Amino acid sequence: MSTKTKYVYSFGSGKADGRADMKELLGGKGANLAEMSSIGIPVPPGFTITTEVCHDYYEAGRKLPESVKPEVEAALKKVEEQVGKKFGDSSDPLLVSVRSGAALSMPGMMNTILNLGLTDASVEGLAKKTDNPRFAYDGYRRLIDMFGSTAMGVEHELFEHELSKLKDEKKVKLDTDLSAADLKELVKRYKAVYEKATGEPFPQDPKDQLWKAIMAVFNSWMGNKAVEYRRIERITGLKGTAVNVQSMVFGNTGTNSGTGVAFTRDPNTGENTFYGDYLINAQGEDVVAGIRTPEPITRLHEEMPKVYEQLMDIRQKLEKHYKEMQDIEFTVEDGTLFMLQTRTGKRTGTSAVRIAVELVKEGFIDEKAAISRVNPESLNHLLLPQLDPKSKNKPVAQGIAASPGAASGKIVLTAEAAVAHAEKHPDEPIMLVRKETSPEDVAGMHLAKGILTSTGGKASHAAVVARGWGKPCVVGCEAMKIDEKAGTITIAGKTLKVGDYLTINGSTGDVMIGQVETIDPSVSGDFATLMGWADKARKLKVRTNADTPADAAKAREFGAEGIGLCRTEHMFFGDERIVAMRKMILADDVEGRKAALAQLEPFQKKDFVGIFEAMDGLPVTIRLLDPPLHEFLPHDEKGQETVAKELGIPVQKVKDRVEQLHEFNPMLGFRGCRLPIVYPEIGDMQVRAIISAAIDVKKAGKSVLPEIMIPLIGTVAELKILKERAIKLADELIAASGVKVEYLVGTMIEIPRAALVADKVAEEAQFFSFGTNDLTQMTFGFSRDDIKSFMGTYLKEKILPVDPFQSIDVEGVGQLIEMGVKKGREGRKAKHGEHLKVGICGEHGGDPDSVAFCHKVGMDYVSCSPFRVPIARLAAAQASLAEGGKIARDK
Ligand code: PEP
Ligand code: MG
Repeated sequence: MSTKTKYVYSFGSGKADGRADMKELLGGKGANLAEMSSIGIPVPPGFTITTEVCHDYYEAGRKLPESVKPEVEAALKKVEEQVGKKFGDSSDPLLVSVRSGAALSMPGMMNTILNLGLTDASVEGLAKKTDNPRFAYDGYRRLIDMFGSTAMGVEHELFEHELSKLKDEKKVKLDTDLSAADLKELVKRYKAVYEKATGEPFPQDPKDQLWKAIMAVFNSWMGNKAVEYRRIERITGLKGTAVNVQSMVFGNTGTNSGTGVAFTRDPNTGENTFYGDYLINAQGEDVVAGIRTPEPITRLHEEMPKVYEQLMDIRQKLEKHYKEMQDIEFTVEDGTLFMLQTRTGKRTGTSAVRIAVELVKEGFIDEKAAISRVNPESLNHLLLPQLDPKSKNKPVAQGIAASPGAASGKIVLTAEAAVAHAEKHPDEPIMLVRKETSPEDVAGMHLAKGILTSTGGKASHAAVVARGWGKPCVVGCEAMKIDEKAGTITIAGKTLKVGDYLTINGSTGDVMIGQVETIDPSVSGDFATLMGWADKARKLKVRTNADTPADAAKAREFGAEGIGLCRTEHMFFGDERIVAMRKMILADDVEGRKAALAQLEPFQKKDFVGIFEAMDGLPVTIRLLDPPLHEFLPHDEKGQETVAKELGIPVQKVKDRVEQLHEFNPMLGFRGCRLPIVYPEIGDMQVRAIISAAIDVKKAGKSVLPEIMIPLIGTVAELKILKERAIKLADELIAASGVKVEYLVGTMIEIPRAALVADKVAEEAQFFSFGTNDLTQMTFGFSRDDIKSFMGTYLKEKILPVDPFQSIDVEGVGQLIEMGVKKGREGRKAKHGEHLKVGICGEHGGDPDSVAFCHKVGMDYVSCSPFRVPIARLAAAQASLAEGGKIARDK
């Protein structure tokens, strides 16, 4: 007989059934409530229904397992005993909160239901017991609203409408101006709203309330908000959510009560100071919802000195216990402090790095743990552009600095408008401006460059979500008035329209009108320290994709160990160059082409000299011309006339050539290695430019390591022809120069066939670089430039877990890569007895999950854009450290 599964875990009074390491089963919130309770931190008693129940609930077609009921009944009884009150009691009722809590934090997945257990009878009891009917009826009307909207799908606005109406009738402005009698009346109206919407009266049996609330939490796991959040955050593999039922404590019983949220260190900068907000005489959600603007936590020191000191002790105790920065929620009920939550605090990349490094210095963790604590993607934050201090745009208003970095964007006033704008103008930056944000807004928030709200504090929804994503955000900008209907905002006496530019500085809270220039950051201080640790830990080398000396130099500053891809075609677009290029394309014969190429050669050579100089001592992979030639000719009549004039040829000739070059599938057409096979003089010019630049730089005393890369091969014959021709030419030039230049000739693996015959290809290639953009395109048969029309649906319908152009499709494309590496290495070894150098230069080279895959298949290096170099360095270190076991990166 199997042992019975335990579905419910109790906590409270210094004891707990669960532990912090049981997050998968109890969810983050439940596991930490248990942990806090057992280490003697004051936590209101309660219990957690496990994630397994959620899983079984869905397996059984939304039915709860039988044995949950008696376990919940027993756990509730325990709570009643500890608190000394009975659930539903008509004289002194126990009230509970019901909250969701998955293993990974998903803010706002489901709104909390508070005050459960209040009924027409028990509300009277509470009023008498507390001698505060106002408080009792306020609690009751909140319950009807939260329960109605969260558990029963009643529109929250219907309740809000009743509240506003009553305030108008009573001629009062604030909710707090309503009297007990007013709130009693409001309860009556709320109940009517509830009954009309649901077709049944508000439940008067508290157990009925409790079960409906529990089911609502489980149902919310598959709600749109939660599914969307998991998709954006790439959260997969969780069992479900747990449900936490906990006895209520009240922060709204008077001025000796309050509620707050805080971080044990500053989540923006990482500084080791207490950071957060609180509100006196308020219930928990008021702080997070951003409805009232709260006070900074340091002021609590003046208002409630004893509580503040106790909080400071708990802050230390938690950090010492968890060895990590914590995000806490607390409530003070009539002067007594209760902790409602602790969890690993979400933080900006900047603070993640500082905290990780300082925790090592403070002796809490070691360097390896520090490396695993920082999400590579979050480094984006340290690489965020900062506002140009010389900019003339001065701040016109100040909000609360909620998530650092500077952003300029065109104003949109709703999340839907952000989505619509991004679809229409994908290249335009968006600034999402709202009174406050809610979980419904996440899709639009994700697309925005920056977020600005007029209300809310540092722990409001907008702040927490933006920080998690490393998006600049300013909240609580009270000087700004938003008129959603008119599509305008008013700030500092100026009215701006939707579509106007607005700039925010999430590091200072400044708001500026117009678009502001930004400047680039650098790797220094704690960032450099962490990168140093990562470099010691990683096996993969990290190169960069760069086509200019400036980009190459920037990447080197960021730690690039060479160039993995220099796309030479980008060098043909300068004013004079494009003319020569077009001359080449329009030439009638080989001689004409050669003459035009001779004009291009000095430009190419000069570019290569610049890049070689910037990368002194490091390898530089230069790819021969790749795109189809038609990309260099204009397709519109006016452009064609200009070209004709520039080259002194009839316009018809230009038109004819464009026509001739037209292809139905240019990405599968006359491009890559096919170009120099048909026109060898193009390849010759590029090889000459590369080698003669290398000779010059070598002569000037620098060290050069050129690697000539032939793109888009599918057969070994293609490579053999081009390689032999390149070597012959290069060797002649080197021999004539009198200096010794070492160089390699290798190829890209971008066509599935090349991966299939990688052993043969490697006989002719000194290195492989996986061009995973094309490899993904050709393996899926998806045009990489045309995925917009269907990728959204594919992701939504879970046909694909992630966009395969962003993160390697391990299941499919990954097989080709793995095979290509293995066969390539074997082929090279067999024929030449040497190691084949293998790297990746598609966009995936900067994606942490893809970097982990590259590590796993044994590549030598990854190559990515300059700004992703630090991200790749850290991801490579994590992949290396994870070999012995998976690194649990906090999302
Ligand atoms: C690739 O295909 O992955 C690649 C790096 O080349 P490009 O993106 O220039 O086609
Ligand atoms: Mg390619």
